[in-house]
Amino acid sequence: MTKICIDPGHGGADPGAIGPTGLKEKDVNLAVGLKLAELLKPIAEVKLTRTKDIAVSLKDRAAIANSFGCDYFISVHTNSFTDRKVGGVETWAYAPGGNGEKLAKEVQAELVKATGFANRGVKFNTSFAVLRDTKAPAIITENGFISNPDEEKLLKTDAFREKIAKAIAQGVAKQLGKKLPEPKPAQAPAQTAPAGKLYKVQVGAYKERKNAEAMLAKLKKAGFDGFIKLE
Ligand SMILES: [Zn+2]
Repeated sequence: MTKICIDPGHGGADPGAIGPTGLKEKDVNLAVGLKLAELLKPIAEVKLTRTKDIAVSLKDRAAIANSFGCDYFISVHTNSFTDRKVGGVETWAYAPGGNGEKLAKEVQAELVKATGFANRGVKFNTSFAVLRDTKAPAIITENGFISNPDEEKLLKTDAFREKIAKAIAQGVAKQLGKKLPEPKPAQAPAQTAPAGKLYKVQVGAYKERKNAEAMLAKLKKAGFDGFIKLE
């Protein structure tokens, strides 16, 4: 099975970037990383560089990935900039060509689709430690700008973190040529009422009787039968 190492950026004494209302990057990264790990488990063997709010050095992150012998390394981050209007998603790879760039492109496309944030594209950097020191093709995802108040607001919510994790997982699945399992559909409601119970259709509820009478008149005019009941 494909081995994937997930690296939630920062942690412990290093909060990463901090949003206008105090949201810490390390917390967003960890939440997204943990969700991503769960989503990938059906299609890959997964290891996280941290599962709690602890400090892990960049050297140790790469060492964890290398001793795990992963096929891909994904570092999860959120961006920040002095100009709070700047926003969007971007994905970094070590260098053009090869599976690192391919994975970055798949993930970037899914992130743009899922978040609706500006597409800042796939970028390359050979001096980022986790890209340079990991043996496997490695990417860094920058899942929006925590410094942008609109994006920070979304990054605070569990639903949006789930969206980001799903997007990254979808990109990985595409890269591996695998399909993520469909989420289980919510159970359909029973089609037959239990004994002694009936499905009733209610059209309105009013404090004043005259309003109830007006609605009843409307119903009858439309060809439906009905009655007024005080509850
Ligand atoms: Zn970061």
